[in-house]
Parts: sequence; C-alpha cells; structure tokens
Amino acid sequence: MEKKLNLNFCNLIYSSNDRNINHEKKILIEAYNFNKDFTKIEIPKFDIKIVYSRKEFNEIWGSKTPNYVSAFTKDDNIVIFSYGVFDKETKWEKEKFQEALIHEINHLFYQELRDDEYDPLWLSEGLATFMQHDKKKFNYKNKLKIKKEILNQYFEDMTIESYQVFTLFVEYLILEFGEDKILNLIRGLKKGKKLNNLFQKIYKKSFDKLIENGNRYHKIT
Ligand SMILES: [Zn+2]
Repeated sequence: MEKKLNLNFCNLIYSSNDRNINHEKKILIEAYNFNKDFTKIEIPKFDIKIVYSRKEFNEIWGSKTPNYVSAFTKDDNIVIFSYGVFDKETKWEKEKFQEALIHEINHLFYQELRDDEYDPLWLSEGLATFMQHDKKKFNYKNKLKIKKEILNQYFEDMTIESYQVFTLFVEYLILEFGEDKILNLIRGLKKGKKLNNLFQKIYKKSFDKLIENGNRYHKIT
C-alpha cells in the first residue's frame, strides 16, 4: 500500500512494506537542510516518491534507464530507488542513496534560484555534484581537463566525463572564491545577464582565464 508522509517541506511517498523508512526520512531531512543552508532560500513544497524496482522507475521516467541512473527530478518532483534496493537496482552502493538525494534536491533549489531554468548545464550539474561530494574536492581517477567546449555541451552530448569536468570547474570557483560569488552568478543569470560579463564583474577574470586557472588549481597541465 502506498503511504504519504507530510514533512512540511515535502511529501514523502513510499510503500507500507518499506522497512527503512525512518532511515530514508532522516537522510532526506539532512539532504534538504544541507542544500537550504547553502542556497539560503526556501523552495516550494515538493514530492519525493520512493520506488522499489527498475520497472516502476522506468514507468515513471517514460522509457528504459541504464543502471547508473538512481534518481531523477521531473516536474519539480523527485523519484529515487529505496535504500533497501539501492545496491540491487543500481550500480551504486547503498551509501550513494544520500548522495543521490543531495544531488536531486540541489536541482530543485537551483531551479528556484534560476527561475525554472537549468542552463548553463555545467553549473546546474556541476553544483549538484559538488554538493553531493559534501562540498569537498573530489579525487577523480581518470585524466581530465577543463575545456570550454566540454562546459558548453548540451544534454544530448554529455557523458560521465562531462559531469566530472563540470564538477572540477565548479569546485574551483567555490573553493577558491567562496560560496557567495557562485550564488551571485546564478542570481545574475536569473536577471538575464550574460555569463561572460558576470565572470568579469564577480570574479574579475574572463571565462577563458578562469578555465586556465581552474586547470592550474587542479594541477592539470
Ligand atoms: Zn543532475
């Protein structure tokens, strides 16, 4: 039987057979507060639906999904595999349940900051992944370089490597210049200002110079 728990900031929709619901609820509240503390804004109430099989997940998504997809946000609502089946229905370990929730909830906050836009993709995906990494520098094993043509990719061309490059650039912008500047950048984009002008105004550097310095920061040559 489907149950609904009202957590004020969201409705948690789950199965009455879910034995991990207290753990899931605790992680959800933490993931929400982590994002709220970062963005310092409120977002409209949303739904989180916990699913228990890839079949159920695909039905809501609308087509087949690969096993690295563990959650998604659609129409301001989040769908995620339960903690209990997370390591069976996805390629990730159970610990990633928390990271996936932080990532998806960050998208909701980003949309609110940005007025229902996702772009630029490097910023929305890079920020969500940076938050997922607990605001810490992530040690990517493969050889990566921040390049403008990767940062400018559209959703259709994105690979796992694109996500990693997006995250490296966001890591550099936040860890080197602080959290306020990136929030100002997003607010500027909401007002319709151009990215290049915002970089110059907020970071006192051009987009190209920031990419170059970002690679130096990550010791990428
Ligand atoms: Zn994402």
